[in-house]
Amino acid sequence: MDNVTHSVAGLLLAESMARLRARGPNPESSAHLGATAAIASIVAANLPDADLFYSGIGGSRLRYMLHHRGYTHTVVIAVLGAVVLWALVSLFLRWRRRAWPGRSDSRWLLALLLAGTLSHLVLDWTNSYGVHPFWPFDDRWRYGDAVFIVEPWLWIVAVPALVAASTTHIARVLLSLVLLAGLGVAWRVNAVSTGAAIALTVGAALSVALARVLRADGRIVAAIAGWVAVTLIMAAGSATARTAVLRTIHELDPAAEVLDVVMSPMPANAVCMSAITVERSGPTYRVTTARVSSVPSFAAAARCGQRASVGSSLGPSTRRSTAAVQWGGEWAAPSAELEALARESCPALAAMRFIRVPMWTAAGDSVLLGDVRYGGGGGGFADVHVPRRSAGCPPAVPPWVPPRADLLGS
Ligand SMILES: [Zn+2]
Repeated sequence: MDNVTHSVAGLLLAESMARLRARGPNPESSAHLGATAAIASIVAANLPDADLFYSGIGGSRLRYMLHHRGYTHTVVIAVLGAVVLWALVSLFLRWRRRAWPGRSDSRWLLALLLAGTLSHLVLDWTNSYGVHPFWPFDDRWRYGDAVFIVEPWLWIVAVPALVAASTTHIARVLLSLVLLAGLGVAWRVNAVSTGAAIALTVGAALSVALARVLRADGRIVAAIAGWVAVTLIMAAGSATARTAVLRTIHELDPAAEVLDVVMSPMPANAVCMSAITVERSGPTYRVTTARVSSVPSFAAAARCGQRASVGSSLGPSTRRSTAAVQWGGEWAAPSAELEALARESCPALAAMRFIRVPMWTAAGDSVLLGDVRYGGGGGGFADVHVPRRSAGCPPAVPPWVPPRADLLGS
C-alpha cells in the first residue's frame, strides 16, 4: 500500500491500543506517551518500506524488483525491526524524562510497534503486488488480489475518527488535509469513476458526522469496523469477478489451463475489477487482460474503466465479451521460449523471481522481459533488458520462488 495508508493504520493502531489499555483490567492511561507513541507507531507501520533506501528508487530496475518488498517485508525482519525501534524509543524516553519507561509502558510500546510493522505486511499482502512473508521458511509470494494499492475508502473510514481523537491542532490540520487531498485526487484521476467519487464524498461527510456523534471508544471501533468492511467488500468483489473470468474462459476455451488470474479492483470501486489471466494451451503461453464487473446487472464490464498501464502493449483480444467480462488485450508465445530463457540466462531467471505475468520480446542477443501487471512492452517499471544467454548473475539475488515456476520447468 501507499505510505499515507500505512501511516493512517499506524495512528489507528496507536489510538485503539490506548483505548484498550484504558479499559483493561488494570486501567492505565497512555496519554503521557502522547506524540512519542503516535509518531513511533507511524514509523513502525512504514518501517518495512525502509528497503527503498537500498533497493533504490531510480536505480537498477532489476534491483528494485528483487529488493523492494524484499527481506524487510517478512515476519522475521518485521519483528526484529519493531524490537530495534522499541529500544530506540525507550532510549529517547530515557533521555527526555531522565528515567526509563515503566514496565507497563514498555510492554505496551513493544506490543504497539510489533502490531505496526506486522500491519504493514498484512496491508501489502492485500494487493496484487504481493509479499513473501514467511522467508526463510517459505520463499513463495502471496497475493491478496483484493485491494487496489491506493484505496481512498480506507482513508474515508479512518481519518475522521483520528481527527476527533487528536489532541493537538497540528495533527488535526494534517489529518484533515489528508482527507481533503484524497477526495481532491479522487475527483481528478480517470481511474476513479465519477460515481465512485460521488460515493466517496458522501461517505466522507457521513464518516465526519459519525466521528462527531460517537464517543471516543465508539468512533475508534467504527473506524476499525469500517476498515475491515472496506477490505472484505473489495475482496468479495474481487472473488466474484474472478469466478466470472474463470467461468467465461472455461466456456470459450475449455482446453485452456488457467495458471493464474491477477485481480485488482479499480480504486474506490468494488464493482469494477481489472483482471489479467495467465494461461497455457499445450505448448502456447497466453496472457489476456479484461475489465470485469462483479455486479453486471448493476454496471456492465464495458462501462468499467481501466488503468492505462495494464497490458498497454498487448494486441486486441479476439474473445467474445459478456456483460461480466469485457476482454481487452491478448498476447501469446511458445512457453518453451521462456523456459529456455530462464535456463540459459541467470539475469532472466533473477527477474522471474519477481515477474508474475511475463511478456518478452527478443532482439538479437538481448531480450526485453517484463511483467504485464505493470506494462510489459518497455515502459513499465518491471521491464528489463536481459541477455539471451549469460551465466553471470546479478549480485545478491534473493531466494524468492519465481511466481511462474509452473512455466519454468525444472
Ligand atoms: Zn511495503
